[in-house]
Parts: sequence; C-alpha cells; structure tokens
Amino acid sequence: MKVAEKYTSGDVVQILFYCPGCEMHHGPWVEGNNVPIWKWNGSLEKPTFSPSLLVKGGTYKSGEYIETQCHSYVKNGKIQFLNDCSHEFAGRTIELEPFDDCKSSIKIHKS
Ligand SMILES: [Zn+2]
Repeated sequence: MKVAEKYTSGDVVQILFYCPGCEMHHGPWVEGNNVPIWKWNGSLEKPTFSPSLLVKGGTYKSGEYIETQCHSYVKNGKIQFLNDCSHEFAGRTIELEPFDDCKSSIKIHKS
C-alpha cells in the first residue's frame, strides 16, 4: 500500500507523504539541482529517507504567532518524531498513512 507519492516538477523530484503532526504533506527532494537532496530507498510503500527531516514553519493561534517545528526520521514506512517537534506527536513513532486516504484523515484530525 502506497504511503507516499512521487511528484515531479521540471527536473526536481519530491516524495510527498502526509504528516499527522503538521496536518499537511512533507515532500523531501530526492532529485534535482539547487535543492537539498535526501537519500531515498526508492519505495513508495515503505519509504526511508536520510538524513532526518526538519520542517520549520509558523502558525497563528488565537491571534498570536507561534513558530512550529517538525523533526522526524522516516524509516521503512514509519515516521519517528523527535522530541523537538512542537506538535503533539513529539517523541512518538507511527506508521505513515495510506496516501489515498489523506484527505479524509485531515478531516478526522481536525474534527
Ligand atoms: Zn510534520
């Protein structure tokens, strides 16, 4: 079962997967020029990326700007969230969700 999808734009290739902590997709680059490249094991069912993924962002909560951080290892289709994540999944390891079910998952997480 696919948990990730390959997305090609010009000469740049990303592997997209859904991150339940951020409630959005992350897409490490695996091919391309002028972008950082992650090593990928070639699998969309049980992907492994190295090194770790660090996604920094920001969000507004009750009118206040909060910086967010998501730091993870993806190995064999599982995502290991490190303790310095700003979301509730910090310190946990979970299976990546099937890629096709992502939209319904987003609704479930937000309800
Ligand atoms: Zn994330």
